[in-house]
Amino acid sequence: ESKASGRNSFRSYTPKMLTFNPESISLENDMRRALERDEFVLHFQPQVDLATGQLRGAEALVRWRHPERGLVSPMHFIPVAEESGLIVQIGECVLRKALAQVREWHDQGLPLFRVSVNISALQFRQANFARFIETLLAEHGVSGEFLELELTESILMRDVEDVLDTLNAIKSLGVRLAIDDFGTGFSCLSYLRRFPIDCLKIDQSFVRNIERTPINQSIAQAIVALGESLALGVIAEGVETLSEAAVLKGMRCSQAQGYLYSTPLEPRSFARWLANRNVGRAVAPAA
Ligand code: C2E
Ligand code: MG
Ligand code: MG
Ligand code: MG
Repeated sequence: ESKASGRNSFRSYTPKMLTFNPESISLENDMRRALERDEFVLHFQPQVDLATGQLRGAEALVRWRHPERGLVSPMHFIPVAEESGLIVQIGECVLRKALAQVREWHDQGLPLFRVSVNISALQFRQANFARFIETLLAEHGVSGEFLELELTESILMRDVEDVLDTLNAIKSLGVRLAIDDFGTGFSCLSYLRRFPIDCLKIDQSFVRNIERTPINQSIAQAIVALGESLALGVIAEGVETLSEAAVLKGMRCSQAQGYLYSTPLEPRSFARWLANRNVGRAVAPAA
């Protein structure tokens, strides 16, 4: 949400009539149809332990399989989905698909790992959001420990008491909570003391070229230290190179996610990626 509101901040101060954007209206209609036609699909990106390379989880990332335009990136439709409120239905569809995929992987006997799902502010603020998560877990026969929700800092900044109730209810299901794009929002660090957060995701803007960017090193180091002292997991997003990974590992950042390990993959490719890694591991256990 923070990304979208940043880009659209001018518009939010302007009466709706003046900013009527025909392009976004038709996109909205297209997205409604896409929901009916089941055109949204999930790709999964591995999250690995930086020290051992072991799989720790996977982030579910939505894509729109558009009949004419092919696979459309969430950057192109999530902002309009958030503005129009459609993100609530799309987010529900994403959660269902993520849990159905976990169920399927369990049934196929894949090694168990957690799936992280991005949650928008509007979705989080729906009445009974925690109850909804509980119902979905039960419907798919998935234990809460296999789900993580990625929240943005902006979600945590409003209506603190309501947010706290919802977070506690979600935690009681065994579901993990991560803060996405950590450091890019209006961080009020005191919320970390009150909210039952498990993990901070270092935004990829701080990871980029970290080996030759002292300011990024300072920020990443500060986030790792914060995580350590508050007993939170820390994962670096958008790790693309071995040198970035090496610096983060040197800082004792515990996990990483990025193109260096894998791009987001469709479910079948994800299973293949995992199988290949495990074969490599079995052959060379010392590595
Ligand atoms: P995010 O949650 O911060 O996800 C990370 C983004 O970084 C993903 O972009 C991922 O493909 C990309 N990425 C991963 N590794 C690398 C790397 O090494 N280098 C670079 N340059 N990029 C990397 P994607 O899939 O385009 O998603 C963009 C954003 O859209 C996400 O950012 C998230 O905010 C939003 N999004 C995606 N799926 C959902 C969803 O189901 N619900 C909601 N509400 N938002 C979603
Ligand atoms: Mg995310
Ligand atoms: Mg992120
Ligand atoms: Mg990001």
